[in-house]
Amino acid sequence: MDRISIVAPCYNEEETLDYFYEAITKLGERLDQAELEIILVDDGSKDHTYEKMCALHEKDDRIKCISFSRNFGKEAAIFSGLRGGSGDCFVVMDADLQHPPETILQMYAYWKEGYEVVEGVKKSRGKESGFHKCLAGIFYGAISRIMHVDMRNSSDFKLMDKKVAEAVCSLTEKNTFFRALAYWVGFKSITVSYEVKERVAGKTKWSYMKLFAYALKNLTSFTNAPLQIVTVIGALFLLIGFIWGVDAVLSSIQGRAVGGYPSLVLLIIIATGGIMVSLGIIGAYIAKIYDEIKNRPQYIIRDKKD
Ligand code: UDP
Ligand code: MG
Repeated sequence: MDRISIVAPCYNEEETLDYFYEAITKLGERLDQAELEIILVDDGSKDHTYEKMCALHEKDDRIKCISFSRNFGKEAAIFSGLRGGSGDCFVVMDADLQHPPETILQMYAYWKEGYEVVEGVKKSRGKESGFHKCLAGIFYGAISRIMHVDMRNSSDFKLMDKKVAEAVCSLTEKNTFFRALAYWVGFKSITVSYEVKERVAGKTKWSYMKLFAYALKNLTSFTNAPLQIVTVIGALFLLIGFIWGVDAVLSSIQGRAVGGYPSLVLLIIIATGGIMVSLGIIGAYIAKIYDEIKNRPQYIIRDKKD
């Protein structure tokens, strides 16, 4: 009998947990060669998510619960779930049933065939506004280029072998980007596409501000390219400055030097703008180094039920 550990991060999901439990139970009935273990991680919810989780744990001993001392984010919840499971393979999925549980049957079949990572790929991005789609397009375009794999429709919905989960959890960085790290560790992988469902209940936890911070955090934790862009911009300014300087010297020698006030102002604005942006980018990386060097844990567990 194989053991599948399902990891579901939950933040203010009291309304969806019952539906989730019901769907997973149905899935369990359809798996005759595997037993399920369900790890629900309460990411510092402000509602009664944890009480609900504990009630499910009382009812069904396949359910394990972890509760964080505050909201540490979905990434942290995923990692603590992966560390808390004992399965032969792990499935990470959202608690709001946007990731269809029946897809797990297909993922499991691939795992049986010997694949170590089964990536859930969105057929479409579900219901999102045009603005959201556009921003997501820019972010995933950049990330895809860095990773040399198409990540536009990737999601956190994955099945991974125990070995892969161990490899991902053994990485020491605290600023994690689970989706990309799952690619980074390698292993034999295959994709399965699924249709993003509507949330069963409750509402999304992501605001534009949160998404922007998420994109920035992930880009800076995965690539140093922006720092190199700073160097390129600097070099470009230097070149322009040099040409401009030569021209200034020549024109003053030839006695055709003019007031040049507008060009001077323009130059100052461009140069300071460039410097500010560059400092900002460098600052973002220093902040990242500072965060990692403090070596604080990615999350703090308040309570646990095995
Ligand atoms: N989530 C979490 N911590 C957070 C935000 C979200 O654990 O700080 C969980 C949430 O409970 C859900 C999953 O991550 O199970 C995806 O969140 P959500 O449905 O809000 O995002 P969306 O599907 O809209 O991208
Ligand atoms: Mg969702």
